[in-house]
Amino acid sequence: MTPDLAGKAVIVTGGASGIGRAASLLIASNGARVVVADIDVTGGEATAAAIFRQGGEAVFVPCDVTVASQVDRLVDAAVQTYGRLDCAFNNAGLEGDHASTVDCTEANWDRTLDINLKSVWLCMRAEIRQFLRQRSGGSIVNTASVAGLVAERGHAAYAAAKGGVIQLTRTAAAEYAAAGIRINAVCPGAIRTPMVDREVKAMRLSAMMPGAFHTPATRFWADAIVRLPFLRSISLKMMQPLGRNGRPEEVAEAAAWLCSDASSFVTGHALVVDGGMTAI
Ligand code: NAD
Repeated sequence: MTPDLAGKAVIVTGGASGIGRAASLLIASNGARVVVADIDVTGGEATAAAIFRQGGEAVFVPCDVTVASQVDRLVDAAVQTYGRLDCAFNNAGLEGDHASTVDCTEANWDRTLDINLKSVWLCMRAEIRQFLRQRSGGSIVNTASVAGLVAERGHAAYAAAKGGVIQLTRTAAAEYAAAGIRINAVCPGAIRTPMVDREVKAMRLSAMMPGAFHTPATRFWADAIVRLPFLRSISLKMMQPLGRNGRPEEVAEAAAWLCSDASSFVTGHALVVDGGMTAI
């Protein structure tokens, strides 16, 4: 699938790493001019440089997507650089601490909701305002997760945030459809990125099944067993019927298609890219 994005100006948040970097490269190789945004300056500049090396056009804009003024400046920078905005992939996110619902701290809750949910609202607000100013329509893709569709034990705040992203996507899609603005979400399963590496290392069975382990000793052994390298490597893969973790490029393909006119009659949709995880 090679959706045509020729000449379009596209913002990608979280473009320094993982899915965002793969999407920036793919969207640029399909002809778009990409505004790579991230809090990680070194990684963001490296993505923009990689796009230049493959013959594409890109600019890196440092941005903390949880700060409204920085998000507004990001959209302004896209318009100043490329004259307009056509699409956005609101993808920056963070898994948060691995803790049961009861043990989740208020600080972890606030930070996880800010980075995964409030940021998407701030980005959509600025992007939709620009689309309305242009009277051009536009396409937005938000990164949710399978954790927004089914339970993710040990990640209550993350699951709540990603469920919120899906509902925000549907609501905004319905509100702005008449203005020619399409808004969709991608819901990745376990994708091989730095985030999933961190998640697997932090995994604790006692946080996933807090009712099953009642003493410090049983909690200790449950957490030690799940950290065995062999179990760690197969546990996520076993959850996905295709029998492997996804590649960031496979999510990027879905995001590029949803950004492009090839998906012109698709809006308010949450597209799973999960190797079949949510089918079982
Ligand atoms: P990643 O850690 O490789 O990339 C995330 C990027 O977001 C990083 O470059 C990071 O610097 C950036 N970021 C974090 N906080 C930011 C902030 N406040 N402002 C700007 N940028 C910020 O992780 P990834 O796996 O590529 O994750 C991308 C998205 O995919 C996230 O929304 C994540 O929740 C989602 N997701 C990932 C998986 C998976 O298995 N990897 C599964 C489901 C959903």
